[in-house]
Amino acid sequence: MTDYIRFICTTCGSDKAIYPNTPPLDDDIISCAGCEREIGPHKIIKDAMLAAGKDELSNLSYKIIGKRPTWKNG
Ligand SMILES: [Zn+2]
Repeated sequence: MTDYIRFICTTCGSDKAIYPNTPPLDDDIISCAGCEREIGPHKIIKDAMLAAGKDELSNLSYKIIGKRPTWKNG
C-alpha cells in the first residue's frame, strides 16, 4: 500500500500530482501537477482509499473536484 496516489487529471490529462511534503501530511492539499487544480486534502483521499474500493474513491473525488478522475494502482 503506497501513500502516493496516481491519477489522470480530467482537466489537463496530467497523471502526476503535487505533494507539498514527502511523505505527504494528512492536512496537505494535493494538487494536479499539470494545471495545479486542487484535488483535496491528502487525509481524505488516503482514508477514502483505505476504507473503500476505488469505485468509492472515484465517487468521493467526484464530489471533491466535480469531475471523475481515472485512478491507477500505484
Ligand atoms: Zn490537471
